[in-house]
Amino acid sequence: MSRLVDPFGREISYIRISVTDRCDFRCVYCMSEDMTFLPKKDLLTLEELERVAAAFIELGVEKIRMTGGEPLVRKGIMQLFNGIGSHIGNGLKELTVTTNGSQLSRFADELYAAGVRRVNISLDTLDAAKFKAITRWGHFEKVMDGLNAAKAAGLAVKINAVALKGVNEDEFDTMVAWCGEHGFDLTLIETMPLGDIDGDRTDQYLPLSVVRSRLKKNWTLTDIPYRTGGPARYMEIGETGQKLGFITPMTHNFCESCNRVRLTCTGTLYMCLGQNDSADLKTPLRASESDGPLVDAIHEAISRKPKGHDFVIDRRQNKPAVGRHMSVTGG
Ligand code: SAM
Ligand code: SF4
Repeated sequence: MSRLVDPFGREISYIRISVTDRCDFRCVYCMSEDMTFLPKKDLLTLEELERVAAAFIELGVEKIRMTGGEPLVRKGIMQLFNGIGSHIGNGLKELTVTTNGSQLSRFADELYAAGVRRVNISLDTLDAAKFKAITRWGHFEKVMDGLNAAKAAGLAVKINAVALKGVNEDEFDTMVAWCGEHGFDLTLIETMPLGDIDGDRTDQYLPLSVVRSRLKKNWTLTDIPYRTGGPARYMEIGETGQKLGFITPMTHNFCESCNRVRLTCTGTLYMCLGQNDSADLKTPLRASESDGPLVDAIHEAISRKPKGHDFVIDRRQNKPAVGRHMSVTGG
């Protein structure tokens, strides 16, 4: 079957699948506290998600990341990991997950058995009180147990931390050292204007250029050409030997090598995190038992993949550039 190449010659080899919009946390930059979630009947079943994933693998996708909401709170989720994991070595090169870590003590071994070798764990702070303030509903100790379980299961761990002005900006030295001790890589992310939240995001925005120059006082940072197929630029930290990634959607050309698309749990395909254009894959998926209509819809969608995002915060109205939350599109 013909591979997926967008109008700018970028080959689509990576899909992120948001398996649920629900979450057991309410991170301040991601959700409001009283979020309304989708009715369960609107979700693709686990079997349907697996069918879409298999179609993308057939079309040349080599890497799949499961995300959400919190992927590990969806009921029966291991069935999907096992199903998609069975394609590893047969088109699929890597199956990964981005998680808040709350359920990892339960699932780390099963993830490894399904073929997962790397997990991204979102952790913005090592201070339990701050953790509570950021996640609202999270339990720090539970996440630490999850991290240890992931390590013990043999999963390589990367920590993702959102840089939040006035919240965790004094902690990055500590986090770099802590990640070094545990053998974890660390990626820092700038906040993105996605979805209404309770507060004002322009207050939280901290450019990573500032973080980088502060870190350079204590750490030897060397740019390295390492790429995971994602938008992060990496450095090696001389003192720890670990990698440090920076994702700077607001300040950097995040888009030029974008090779990914995002599927929501309702079967909507977003060709860009920062644009509203989308394609409905649920209708063609349900229209036929054969994958013909689904494959046609995927090709048509990729022919509309835009060149880049358009993240701008409308300061007068204080509205996010893109109305849907990161928990819908899946980070
Ligand atoms: N619940 C899982 C987690 O937290 O890892 C997976 C989904 S979460 C939406 C994926 C990532 O998006 C997390 O690392 C989170 O910190 C990040 N995120 C959420 N909202 C964001 C925003 N507005 N700007 C930047 N990153 C955001
Ligand atoms: Fe949940 Fe992840 Fe959003 Fe936090 S960032 S509320 S853990 S989906």
